[in-house]
Amino acid sequence: MFPELRFSESEIRRMIDSATPEAVLNSLAKEKRNYFDLLNLISPAAMECLPQMREVSRKCRLRYYGKTVTIYAPLYISNSCVNGCKYCDFNIRHKYERKSLTLDEIRQEADAILAMGIDSLLIVAGEDPVRMSVDYLCEVGRMLKEKFSYLSLEIAPQEEEGYRRLFEAGYEGLTLFQETYNQELYKELHPVGPKRVYDFRVWSQLRAGRAGMRNLGMAFLLGLDEWRMEAASLAAHAIYLQKHCFESKVQFAFPRITATEGGFQPAHPVDDADLELMMLAFRIVFPECGMTISTRENPEFRDRMVQLCADNMSAGSRVTPGGYAVLADEVGQFTLNDSRSVEEVEAAIRRNGQEVVRKYWDRAL
Ligand code: SF4
Repeated sequence: MFPELRFSESEIRRMIDSATPEAVLNSLAKEKRNYFDLLNLISPAAMECLPQMREVSRKCRLRYYGKTVTIYAPLYISNSCVNGCKYCDFNIRHKYERKSLTLDEIRQEADAILAMGIDSLLIVAGEDPVRMSVDYLCEVGRMLKEKFSYLSLEIAPQEEEGYRRLFEAGYEGLTLFQETYNQELYKELHPVGPKRVYDFRVWSQLRAGRAGMRNLGMAFLLGLDEWRMEAASLAAHAIYLQKHCFESKVQFAFPRITATEGGFQPAHPVDDADLELMMLAFRIVFPECGMTISTRENPEFRDRMVQLCADNMSAGSRVTPGGYAVLADEVGQFTLNDSRSVEEVEAAIRRNGQEVVRKYWDRAL
């Protein structure tokens, strides 16, 4: 569980299991909701109230984000990694040639993404302290901030000073998945590499927020452990960050494990109904927070969630280093289930009566 959570696992489980449909409807009727409402809204009893939850979530989304949907693209710059995460194809134990893009290759990739009409970029890299040092990532940031209005990072956790340098180089957001809040399971899934240290990972967003990052992205990997217990920890973590990094915005993602070349099988698969319930619950309890819908999901599900709760989605994504312009057929980090082009994603957003926002942030503001 999230270390600062004041309730034990069994207490959380009891609160979730004892929620009734009446308690769920009471939580939905409130103007402002708290942590205990979240536990009600992710409970098995909440499944009976899905239609009401959809309605409340849609209103929350509309109140804070209007009809806008922000789009971005991930740019994988390296699949070299010193960690042994059992669920990931970038795992050090998988023997294939790794690729870390040079500055020139990153520029080519960036130009291909710009040509697709994308203005917000998420830089993604495996954990390789030599090839993906803070110095190198700063060089990448300084080069790309001239081209894009918003840059964020999904990289190995850094010390606060590292995050500060990255922020000064042009990155304004950090995404970091805790993978699982279950400390025993975390140890088992991360047998080798620096990622073994749970505490250093779990306090990453706090260090990044203190260093100035405006957006703090967070998630667990759906399928590793029971999703309701993980969601209870995620919510506690979010509340902690809202309190300690009040100048930053928390942003949720809900990545479900998809097929990997390594064949990892999730012990606790999450079905569509569970995922929808969880996303609606987070939108209702955290109406102001950002929410991304992953390309791991199929187009129909993504289009539906972006109307009900999510406000941010990637489009035209490639999950291989060099996948936009430089190389083909590299090993990706996971399987994409939405391979639509940027135009196709945008057309679907407009068909649903929403507006596409390409420019996420203006430095002049
Ligand atoms: S999940 Fe991240 S840290 Fe783990 S093997 Fe994959 S790229 Fe490396």
